[in-house]
Amino acid sequence: MAIYDPKSMKAEEFINDEEIRATLEYAEANKNNAELIDQILEKARPQKTATGCQCAGLTHREASVLLACEIPEKIEKMYKIAEEIKLAFYGNRIVIFAPLYLSNYCINGCVYCPYHAKNKHITRKKLTQEEVKAEVIALQDMGHKRLAIEAGEDPKNNPIEYILDCINTIYSVHHKNGDIRRVNVNIAATTVENYRKLKEAGIGTYILFQETYHKKSYLELHPTGPKHDYDYHTEAMDRAMEGGIDDVGLGVLFGLELYKYEFAGLIMHAEHLEAVHGVGPHTISVPRVKRADDIDPDMFDNGIDDETFTKIAACIRLAVPYTGMIVSTRETEEVRRRLLQVGISQVSGASRTSVGGYTEEERPHDTEQFDVSDQRTLDEVVRWLMESNHIPSFCTACYREGRTGDRFMSLCKNGQILNCCHPNALMTLAEFLEDYASPETKKAGYEMIERELKRIPKEKVRQIAEQNINDIRTSNRRDFRF
Ligand code: SAM
Repeated sequence: MAIYDPKSMKAEEFINDEEIRATLEYAEANKNNAELIDQILEKARPQKTATGCQCAGLTHREASVLLACEIPEKIEKMYKIAEEIKLAFYGNRIVIFAPLYLSNYCINGCVYCPYHAKNKHITRKKLTQEEVKAEVIALQDMGHKRLAIEAGEDPKNNPIEYILDCINTIYSVHHKNGDIRRVNVNIAATTVENYRKLKEAGIGTYILFQETYHKKSYLELHPTGPKHDYDYHTEAMDRAMEGGIDDVGLGVLFGLELYKYEFAGLIMHAEHLEAVHGVGPHTISVPRVKRADDIDPDMFDNGIDDETFTKIAACIRLAVPYTGMIVSTRETEEVRRRLLQVGISQVSGASRTSVGGYTEEERPHDTEQFDVSDQRTLDEVVRWLMESNHIPSFCTACYREGRTGDRFMSLCKNGQILNCCHPNALMTLAEFLEDYASPETKKAGYEMIERELKRIPKEKVRQIAEQNINDIRTSNRRDFRF
């Protein structure tokens, strides 16, 4: 029997089934233990320090007790603390990105994904470099600066060389004032050597969803293809870090397995990265399984309602306070609004999940990976964020300045976000307003910028930011970032 050891490099030891089961029993036994729940909430709350504030985070056991808790006023408290943590470390900024689907060729048999190899009627498509360029121009014309590239797993059609070519092409396109400054990568688990190549190509975060931490279910849900190897998939982030990628993004595809099991596994994975590499996940995504070509989400027994989903997001925020948290357009406007109140720090906008979708007038369905629930334009998403007092941020400065991995985390932990990321967000928002926004969004945007500039604590920083925004408004742009 494998023993639980967060420092072990073996999947079955750092994601230990026995420990997860014991955690779920402990959580169930304590779900109405108000005294213990209060202690855990107190531990999670941000604490003021000389330089800013700090959060202790929670262990997978503590966080699982909160997730199991059924006491309404404690759940409300949980949501409030989740929002406090988000505001303390990330401020009211929300980072914006879009996925870019490169190829839907795939040799895996994932039963929830329409790209599975047995799907013979879905149109298979792989972008040429010319087509990548056209997609990037379409994305730049909306105002996007940050992409997550997506591809099925197929060593013949989508080898690492193809992915690297696409990354180079994406970074090389400069259309009007547009450029893509950060390419995050969501491709199948690969070798240390390939991760090194991705690092050299200048990627931002390497994202890989675990789909499920439950090994038996994992094997059934991935019956064929290289992704069937649970250990290889689960240990991928360690190989990515060995290859030099220090920003990695975790995620579970909620709906496939029991959410409490997945949640404990996810927090254990974050603990493992921290224990071994000294830095936790840069992001955690919370996708839910969606309808798609030959996929009916009702085939899976473990769908979760919106309230449970909100609770999961809040508990992740409490347990892993410094991580970026992502919600995609799989979710509706309403669900996204709710999640933004409990700790989400990144959203996608105007996404198309089809290969070549951005250059099509109508939303194409023939190569789509899943239905998009939030179908608003980027301009609408930006304005909507501002209406709820969130600053849409197109900033990628941390990555360009080498503030990745533990360097980013220390900026975050030292409470320097308001003097650094906040002004950067305002400057990149001003660029968006000038280049891409509708008159209505532009008006709301400059009102927000005026209000938000006043919140920058250091006078010198405020003055420089103000000057730069004036320069952006008068077409005297200098591409300056803190
Ligand atoms: N092929 C890569 C892999 O195996 O990790 C890349 C990613 S795939 C394009 C991106 C993610 O979409 C998957 O990891 C999965 O979690 C998610 N996905 C697949 N089918 C989905 C569905 N029907 N609804 C929602 N998300 C889905």
